[in-house]
Amino acid sequence: MSVKILPKMNLSEWIDHLDGRYRLFGPTPIKDQHVFAEVHSAGDFDLDYTTTLLPPKKVFLPPREDLIQFDIEKNQVYPVLEDQPSVILGVHTCDMYAIHMLDQVFSQDFSDQHYMARRQNTILVTVECLSPCSEESFCKDMGTLSVPEKYDLHLIDIGDAYVMDIGSEKGATLLHDFDPIRDPTQVELRLLNQVMSNKWSRFPYRLDADLTELKSLLKISFKSTLWNELGELCLGCGMCTLVCPTCYCFDIQDEVDLLLEHGTRYRVWDSCQLNQFAEVAGGHDFRPGRENRQRHRFLRKYSYQTSSNGLLGCVGCGRCALTCPVNIAPVETLNKLYHRRVAYGKKVKQEVLIG
Ligand code: SF4
Ligand code: SF4
Repeated sequence: MSVKILPKMNLSEWIDHLDGRYRLFGPTPIKDQHVFAEVHSAGDFDLDYTTTLLPPKKVFLPPREDLIQFDIEKNQVYPVLEDQPSVILGVHTCDMYAIHMLDQVFSQDFSDQHYMARRQNTILVTVECLSPCSEESFCKDMGTLSVPEKYDLHLIDIGDAYVMDIGSEKGATLLHDFDPIRDPTQVELRLLNQVMSNKWSRFPYRLDADLTELKSLLKISFKSTLWNELGELCLGCGMCTLVCPTCYCFDIQDEVDLLLEHGTRYRVWDSCQLNQFAEVAGGHDFRPGRENRQRHRFLRKYSYQTSSNGLLGCVGCGRCALTCPVNIAPVETLNKLYHRRVAYGKKVKQEVLIG
């Protein structure tokens, strides 16, 4: 694929060119936050945003989504599928990694036709992050600081223009019939190299353990007292999972009209941190207690997901830490687990030497 240039003065024209052909979504400012929302002009969104309240997964997996409608009289069911061609503008690279994980989850073994219909008809325009989006992000540790191998169209801000790195045929279609897009000059290519090499040092490493050690760290910390400490703190509000780009648990419910003739089956986001989440028939709760639910959350992010599909269960976006009302944050939790294991290892070694 190739690299093109979109002068910033033509951004607005490009959005007008896409609007009408596609349903457009982008990071939109609301008060002092940003949210992914439908946009119609360049003035509606802001590519130079920090993070969004909810990740772009909400476009493929809406918080409430009708799945089927049924007619009881006629004994018929109708699937509800949304496949309108769409473009999401300004996806950060960490969120792109999360989308790849969701793609795998929703297409392997059992393919989720509702998610896949939206996903296959959506083109993603990612944007290079040139500085950390918040003090809670740790994308450098999680390896999500640069665009993943598969992408459609990737933008890099070089001042007066965006470099557009075309990653797929779908991405290339967004540039068709739009004349202001041109080849880069030598000066612009040098500027691109400079921008990319300057960004790396702006991002700190925050985890004390290496990414490759997290899975075994979580495994050997299964009985850590830290889970009880987190359980004492946690309010069980579920916000950490609702804002997470890699969480996808949902509940299914039916709504039937008063005459019991027609109805809708829909799904809504759910959270493993809510106290009814693991309640089953007879009132049995197979994961009681906030300490067990917190442990499950961390194991799922840093161990189970890697085991089941080889991908990251956390992309280091920091949204959960920014949202948690009692400041439970992944970096502090993982660092505490790591240092307790190191201290425990030293103690055991000393006892062996003395003994
Ligand atoms: S666990 Fe937290 S930091 Fe990791 S992807 Fe989810 S919201 Fe982001
Ligand atoms: S956001 Fe914080 S308090 Fe709420 S469930 Fe998650 S860890 Fe617990």
